[in-house]
Amino acid sequence: MKTVDEAIAYLLAQVQTKPKIESRPLSQALGCVLAQSVVSPVNVPPHDNSMMDGYAVRAEDIQPGLVLPISQRIPAGTHPEPLAPGSVARIFTGAPIPAGANAVVMQEQAEVSDTGVQFEASVQVGQNIRQCGEDIAQNASILEPGQRLRPQDLALIASVGQAQVAVYKPLKLVTFSTGDELLEPGTAPEPGKIYNSNHTNLMALVMQLGFDWIDLGQVADSLDATKAALAKAAELGDVIITTGGVSVGEEDHLKPAVESLGKLDMWQVKMKPGKPLAFGEVSGKPFLGLPGNPVSAFTTFNLFARPFLMRLQGQTQVKPQSVWVQAGFDWLKPGFRREFVRARLHNQAAQTWAEIYPQQGSGVLTSTVWAAGLVVIPEDSVVHKGDWVEYISFNEF
Ligand code: AMP
Ligand code: MG
Repeated sequence: MKTVDEAIAYLLAQVQTKPKIESRPLSQALGCVLAQSVVSPVNVPPHDNSMMDGYAVRAEDIQPGLVLPISQRIPAGTHPEPLAPGSVARIFTGAPIPAGANAVVMQEQAEVSDTGVQFEASVQVGQNIRQCGEDIAQNASILEPGQRLRPQDLALIASVGQAQVAVYKPLKLVTFSTGDELLEPGTAPEPGKIYNSNHTNLMALVMQLGFDWIDLGQVADSLDATKAALAKAAELGDVIITTGGVSVGEEDHLKPAVESLGKLDMWQVKMKPGKPLAFGEVSGKPFLGLPGNPVSAFTTFNLFARPFLMRLQGQTQVKPQSVWVQAGFDWLKPGFRREFVRARLHNQAAQTWAEIYPQQGSGVLTSTVWAAGLVVIPEDSVVHKGDWVEYISFNEF
């Protein structure tokens, strides 16, 4: 049996290629993984400019009671003349500082009359000026390859004048669910059958990660059907993910099917929920077989498939960040497997407590909806109320 950490490390070590690179407009790049560093061709801001509406002055010219004439007016977006000696310029937020000026006085501190303007307070050189290049210097590298592009990353690229960005082409992910007991939602209930929820869960998880999704639907519990589905999946996509059928019962056909078309590693991972996990390849395409129980499928997708897929997509940081919170519960039966317990947080007396859902069965999908994350109970451990425990928010997924 592999530990959770061994299984994750093994999966990540299998990724040895990077996807193809393509150039995309910023409007099509949200959630994509950056493929090349972005170097700024310009300074941001491109010129010294005013932080506020007021007066651009030469600090040395200002004396209490001295009235100086206003020699020009500089709205944002204009290109000013040099400041005439012994004068000030009316200036607005974002407008370029005229050559010769070295400070801006806010308009609230100015007294305007027919002959000009005088100031109440003394003036420091540089005050209220945003310096050229203070955000980004020309030729500075502003983003590194391997990061997933968020709204603020795209904004930063736009701020240096670039409309396109080099990203890794999204991988095509093929999924199917196995199980003769499965019914499609939208159809009438039938005796002995259950609705297929993994299909929808996988679809949404895959879409959330920005992959192209190819759906092969439901596949019957037979060796031939499973082999045919795998062969088609390998032909259509870059990675194959399935749910169910990865145990070693007579109705579990993934193991022999993958072995006949490629190669397979099957592991028991020392975790709960979600013990059986299969990894291998079919016609050279990576294959991940997740367990059928809905909570197990969800948990193993997030803990194993997600980092693997993200790394395959070219992303560098793939591990979820956890935080430490206090247990608002007792966990008195130690287990030899690491448990990922559906939990949510609440704040009380300036402390953050984790509460856990009372039913932790691997078929209880409600627990994943009630919860906002997972508390990690280490192997062979008990937890008492008030102990510190590790918590991974679903926001990390
Ligand atoms: P399996 O891994 O195929 O042995 O399935 C384990 C359990 O998960 C069984 O109770 C299945 O009925 C259930 N299950 C398998 N696939 C799905 C699915 N796609 N949606 C909901 N439940 C499923
Ligand atoms: Mg099954």
